[in-house]
Amino acid sequence: MNRRRSDALPDEERARLEGLIYEEREARQRAESLAETRLQDLYAKQQQIELLNTIASAANQSDSIAEVLRTALNAIGEFLDWPVGHAYLARKTSSSDLELGPTGIWHLRTLDPVEAFRESTEDTVFRSGQGLPGRVLEQRAPVWVEHLDQDLNFPRRAAAATSGLCSGFAFPVMVGQEVACVLEFFTAETTPEQPEVLALLAQAGVQLGRVVERNRHAERLIHHASHDPLTGLPNRRLFHDRLEHAIARYAREPESLFAVLFVDLDRFKLVNDSLGHTAGDELLAQVGKRLLTALRQNDTVSRPGGNQNTRPDDTLARLGGDEFTILLEGLHEPVDALRVAERLQAILHQPFSIAGQTVYVTVSIGIATRPYGQACPVVSPDQDGPTCAEDLMREADMAMYRAKSLGKARCEFCDPGMQSQALESLRLETSLRESVERNAFVVHYQPIMSLADNRITGFEALVRWEREGELLPPDRFIPIAEDAGLVHLIDMQVLYTACSQLQAWNAQRSGPPLTISTNLSARQLTRPELVDEVATILCGTDTPPEQLRLEITETATLGNLDELIATLKGLKALGVSLAMDDFGTGYSSLSYLHRLPLDILKIDRAFVAGLDRDEYSQRLVQTVINMARNLGLEAVAEGVESNTHAATLRALGCTRAQGYYYSRPVPADRAGDLLAADQLPLVTA
Ligand code: C2E
Ligand code: CA
Ligand code: CA
Repeated sequence: MNRRRSDALPDEERARLEGLIYEEREARQRAESLAETRLQDLYAKQQQIELLNTIASAANQSDSIAEVLRTALNAIGEFLDWPVGHAYLARKTSSSDLELGPTGIWHLRTLDPVEAFRESTEDTVFRSGQGLPGRVLEQRAPVWVEHLDQDLNFPRRAAAATSGLCSGFAFPVMVGQEVACVLEFFTAETTPEQPEVLALLAQAGVQLGRVVERNRHAERLIHHASHDPLTGLPNRRLFHDRLEHAIARYAREPESLFAVLFVDLDRFKLVNDSLGHTAGDELLAQVGKRLLTALRQNDTVSRPGGNQNTRPDDTLARLGGDEFTILLEGLHEPVDALRVAERLQAILHQPFSIAGQTVYVTVSIGIATRPYGQACPVVSPDQDGPTCAEDLMREADMAMYRAKSLGKARCEFCDPGMQSQALESLRLETSLRESVERNAFVVHYQPIMSLADNRITGFEALVRWEREGELLPPDRFIPIAEDAGLVHLIDMQVLYTACSQLQAWNAQRSGPPLTISTNLSARQLTRPELVDEVATILCGTDTPPEQLRLEITETATLGNLDELIATLKGLKALGVSLAMDDFGTGYSSLSYLHRLPLDILKIDRAFVAGLDRDEYSQRLVQTVINMARNLGLEAVAEGVESNTHAATLRALGCTRAQGYYYSRPVPADRAGDLLAADQLPLVTA
C-alpha cells in the first residue's frame, strides 16, 4: 500500500484498514512458516532458506509491489551471484489476454556493460509465448536458457551478446492460477540449468504472489474509501484532493484556467417519493454514467493553436444525494466551462428509463472558475488571497443555488462579470451556428494585380458576416467560429461561392483566366475530409484546379508538422496552388519552410507599410522576395496603399500585389465593374 495515499484517509478508516492488513499479515506469516518448514526438509541448505526468509520478511515490510519486486530481485541476484535481474508486470490487453510490460525495476551489479541489454528490455512488451518472459507467462512455470545466443525465441539476442550475457532464466510470480509478474536473471557465464534453483524460486514466486495479492487488496480498499459505491465515481474526499492539486498547478501555470461545476438534479425528491428509493438510486447511477460519457468527449472546448487533446481528464464526483461536482482543467476561457455545462444539460434532457417508467431530468449547474472575470462581490472579498478547495466548492454551490432560485434547469456563474462575458460569447456562437445553417455569409473580393501592367490577375475572397443589419469583418467572428468548431463550414461555403463567382467571370472573359484565392483556417488543416471536400467543390463548380489558390497561415505549423505536410500534399495533388499568408508575422521557421509544398509567399502588409518609411523594411521585403525566389516561390505583396509602395515592390522584383491603392475588398457586383473597366481607377473609396 502506498503510504502517502493512506495518509489521506481519516484516522478511524486508516485504523480499520491497518487492522485488516495486520490480521492478514499474521495469517500469512503462519502459512509461510509452515511452508518454510516443509522446504527445510526438502533442501537442507541453509542459504536457500535464508533467501526465502529475506524475501518473506522484505515482502512483509514492503509498502508497494514495486518495492517487493526490487527487494526480491536484489536478494535473488546476490544469492546466485548473477549480475542482471529485471521484473515484468502482467497486464490485460484490449482483448483481455495477458501481456508483460517492463517495470524498469532492476538488479544490476555493474551498470555500464549491460546498457544495450537494458535499453532493449525496457523497449519491449512480451505477449504470451514470446521470448523468455512470454514463455514463462504461457507455461506458468520457470524457464531456463543455457545458450542465449542459440535460442531462436529470444528477441533480445543481439543486445544480450553486446552486453556479454550468456545464460538466463525467468520464473513467474503467481496470484492463484494467474501470472502477476515475471522475474528474469542473466549471467555472463554459460550456466546449465539448475533444477534445485528453479524449484526454490518457484516457491519464492508463490510467496511473492501472496504479497502482490495483499497489495492489490489494499489498493481495492483504498479505492472503496475514495469512491462512491453507488456510481463508482470519486467521492467528496477524492474530489477535494484533485481540486487542491488543480489549485496548486494553477498557481504554477497561471495561463491555464480551471472550473468547478456543481450539478444538482431538479426535483429529484419527486422521483424518490413516487418511484421509490431503488428507482432513485438507479436514476443517479444512470445520470453518473451519462455525465461521464459526455465529459470524455470534451472536444468542443477551445484550444489555443488548434492543438487537440491537450486538456487533462476531467474529474466527475458524486458528493452524495443528487449532487455531482465536476473539475474541468486546462480551459482556454470561461465560456469553455459554460459550453461544457450546456452540453451536459442537453445530454441529461434525453429521457431516462427507470423501473419501466420514462423519467425526465433537468439539472441546475453552478460554475466557479479561476481567475475571476471581474471582482466577485458575492463571496471572496480578498481576490488576491490564496484560493482553497473549500472556497471554490462554496462558490460553485452558491451559484447552483442561484440557478435554482432563478427557475432551475439553468447554469449560473459565481462571478457575474464572467457570466455576462461568457453569455455574450455563447450568444454569438449560437447565432453564428444558425448563420452557418442559413449560409448567411457574404463574400467580398479584393483584386490581385500584376505589378508589370496594373491589370487584374485574380481576386482574394474575404468573408463578411451579416448580423443584425451590420456587416462584421472576419476578425470579429472567425476566432469564435474556430473555438466553436464551425470554421471549416464557413471556409467551405466561401470556397464554393468564390469558385462559382470565378467561373461566372471567366466565362465572360477573353484573356487569360483569373485566379481566386481563399483562406483556410489553421484549425481545419488536419481534418481528414478537407482534401475530398475541396475536390468536390472544384468539381461541382467546374473550376480548373490551377485557378484556385489556397492561403494558409503560419499558425498551421504549430501543430503536427507531418500531418500538415500530408494534407498540403493531398491538396497539391488536386492541382491547386498553396500560399503562405501573412508571411513573417508568425512563427515561421525557415528550417521547415522548404518542407512545405508551397507555391506562393504573401508578404504581410506590416512590412509593406514600412516601405516608404524606413530602409529596414525595404531590406526585409527584399530578403523575403529573394528567399521566395530561391525556394522557387512567387512573392505576392499585401497592403499596397500608395504608388510608392507599388513602385518600390516592382523595383524589388515583386510581381503581384493587392491593397487599398488598387481597391478595397468589394461585393461581387462591384468587383465585376472593376473587371469590366479592366484598367482600374487608381484610388477607390
Ligand atoms: P488576410 O488573408 O491577410 O486578408 C487581407 C486583409 O487585409 C483583409 O482584411 C483586407 O481587407 C485587408 N487589406 C487589404 N488591403 C489592405 C490595405 O491596403 N491596407 C490595409 N490596412 N488592409 C488591407 P479582412 O477582410 O478584414 O480579413 C482579415 C482576415 O480574416 C484575413 O486576413 C484572413 O486571415 C481572415 N479571413 C478572411 N476571410 C476568411 C475566410 O473565408 N476564412 C478564413 N478562415 N479566414 C478568413
Ligand atoms: Ca489571405
Ligand atoms: Ca494576409
